[in-house]
Amino acid sequence: MGYTDIKELLKDARDIASGANDLQLKGILLDIQGMVYDLQDENRDLREENHELKNQKITEDDLIKVGNFWKKPDKEYLYCPKCWGKDDKLVVCNITMQGEQNRVGAVINEKQYGICPVCRYMRLLTE
Ligand SMILES: [Zn+2]
Repeated sequence: MGYTDIKELLKDARDIASGANDLQLKGILLDIQGMVYDLQDENRDLREENHELKNQKITEDDLIKVGNFWKKPDKEYLYCPKCWGKDDKLVVCNITMQGEQNRVGAVINEKQYGICPVCRYMRLLTE
Protein backbone atom coordinates (compact mmCIF):
# COMPACT_ATOMS: atom_id res chain seq x y z
CA MET A 1 0.00 0.00 0.00
CA GLY A 2 1.35 3.41 -0.99
CA TYR A 3 0.59 6.96 0.01
CA THR A 4 -1.78 7.38 -2.94
CA ASP A 5 -3.93 4.47 -1.68
CA ILE A 6 -4.12 5.98 1.80
CA LYS A 7 -5.12 9.36 0.40
CA GLU A 8 -7.83 7.73 -1.75
CA LEU A 9 -9.25 5.92 1.30
CA LEU A 10 -9.31 9.15 3.31
CA LYS A 11 -11.16 10.90 0.50
CA ASP A 12 -13.72 8.05 0.36
CA ALA A 13 -14.24 8.28 4.14
CA ARG A 14 -14.75 12.07 3.90
CA ASP A 15 -17.33 11.61 1.13
CA ILE A 16 -19.25 9.09 3.25
CA ALA A 17 -19.22 11.41 6.29
CA SER A 18 -21.85 13.82 4.98
CA GLY A 19 -24.28 14.55 7.83
CA ALA A 20 -23.96 17.30 10.47
CA ASN A 21 -22.81 14.75 13.06
CA ASP A 22 -19.99 13.82 10.77
CA LEU A 23 -18.39 17.29 10.76
CA GLN A 24 -16.11 16.29 13.62
CA LEU A 25 -15.18 13.12 11.75
CA LYS A 26 -14.39 15.17 8.64
CA GLY A 27 -12.06 17.36 10.71
CA ILE A 28 -10.24 14.32 12.05
CA LEU A 29 -9.93 12.86 8.56
CA LEU A 30 -8.42 16.13 7.33
CA ASP A 31 -5.90 16.03 10.19
CA ILE A 32 -4.93 12.48 9.25
CA GLN A 33 -4.56 13.54 5.63
CA GLY A 34 -2.17 16.34 6.70
CA MET A 35 -0.10 13.83 8.64
CA VAL A 36 0.06 11.52 5.63
CA TYR A 37 1.41 14.41 3.55
CA ASP A 38 4.06 15.11 6.21
CA LEU A 39 5.05 11.43 6.30
CA GLN A 40 5.27 11.37 2.52
CA ASP A 41 7.66 14.37 2.57
CA GLU A 42 9.76 12.79 5.30
CA ASN A 43 9.86 9.48 3.43
CA ARG A 44 11.04 11.21 0.24
CA ASP A 45 13.82 13.04 2.13
CA LEU A 46 14.97 9.78 3.75
CA ARG A 47 14.97 7.98 0.40
CA GLU A 48 17.18 10.69 -1.11
CA GLU A 49 19.54 10.62 1.87
CA ASN A 50 19.73 6.82 1.73
CA HIS A 51 20.46 6.95 -1.99
CA GLU A 52 23.33 9.42 -1.41
CA LEU A 53 24.79 7.31 1.41
CA LYS A 54 24.71 4.20 -0.76
CA ASN A 55 26.61 6.07 -3.47
CA GLN A 56 29.22 7.25 -0.96
CA LYS A 57 29.91 3.80 0.46
CA ILE A 58 33.16 2.48 -0.94
CA THR A 59 33.54 -1.26 -1.21
CA GLU A 60 36.50 -3.43 -2.13
CA ASP A 61 35.07 -3.66 -5.67
CA ASP A 62 35.89 0.06 -6.09
CA LEU A 63 39.56 -0.49 -5.22
CA ILE A 64 42.50 -2.19 -6.88
CA LYS A 65 45.52 -3.70 -5.17
CA VAL A 66 48.92 -2.16 -5.97
CA GLY A 67 51.62 -4.14 -4.20
CA ASN A 68 50.60 -4.10 -0.54
CA PHE A 69 48.46 -0.99 -0.90
CA TRP A 70 44.95 -0.19 -2.14
CA LYS A 71 44.25 2.34 -4.83
CA LYS A 72 41.26 3.90 -6.60
CA PRO A 73 41.54 3.37 -10.36
CA ASP A 74 41.16 7.11 -11.07
CA LYS A 75 43.40 8.47 -8.25
CA GLU A 76 47.14 8.46 -7.64
CA TYR A 77 46.88 7.94 -3.87
CA LEU A 78 47.85 4.73 -2.14
CA TYR A 79 45.67 3.68 0.78
CA CYS A 80 46.78 1.86 3.91
CA PRO A 81 45.78 -1.85 3.80
CA LYS A 82 45.83 -2.13 7.60
CA CYS A 83 43.42 0.78 8.22
CA TRP A 84 41.16 -0.42 5.38
CA GLY A 85 41.12 -3.97 6.70
CA LYS A 86 40.45 -2.87 10.26
CA ASP A 87 37.88 -0.04 9.94
CA ASP A 88 37.08 0.22 6.20
CA LYS A 89 38.85 3.60 6.40
CA LEU A 90 40.75 4.96 3.43
CA VAL A 91 43.93 6.56 4.79
CA VAL A 92 46.23 8.07 2.19
CA CYS A 93 49.82 6.91 2.73
CA ASN A 94 52.78 9.25 2.45
CA ILE A 95 55.63 8.38 0.14
CA THR A 96 59.06 8.45 1.71
CA MET A 97 62.58 7.61 0.52
CA GLN A 98 64.66 5.33 2.70
CA GLY A 99 68.16 4.08 2.09
CA GLU A 100 71.26 2.81 3.84
CA GLN A 101 74.30 4.83 4.83
CA ASN A 102 77.64 3.69 3.53
CA ARG A 103 80.95 4.00 5.39
CA VAL A 104 81.43 7.68 4.42
CA GLY A 105 77.88 8.62 5.44
CA ALA A 106 76.37 8.82 1.98
CA VAL A 107 72.87 7.41 1.48
CA ILE A 108 72.81 4.54 -0.96
CA ASN A 109 70.20 2.10 -2.27
CA GLU A 110 67.40 4.61 -1.74
CA LYS A 111 63.99 3.09 -2.21
CA GLN A 112 60.44 4.41 -2.13
CA TYR A 113 58.20 3.38 0.75
CA GLY A 114 54.57 4.06 1.49
CA ILE A 115 53.88 4.92 5.11
CA CYS A 116 50.50 5.33 6.83
CA PRO A 117 50.24 8.53 8.92
CA VAL A 118 47.69 6.88 11.23
CA CYS A 119 49.00 3.39 12.07
CA ARG A 120 52.64 3.79 10.78
CA TYR A 121 52.26 0.77 8.47
CA MET A 122 55.24 0.95 6.07
CA ARG A 123 56.04 -1.14 3.01
CA LEU A 124 58.31 -0.91 0.01
CA LEU A 125 56.56 0.30 -3.14
CA THR A 126 56.89 -2.41 -5.72
CA GLU A 127 56.09 -0.32 -8.80
ZN1 LIG B 1 47.12 2.68 8.46
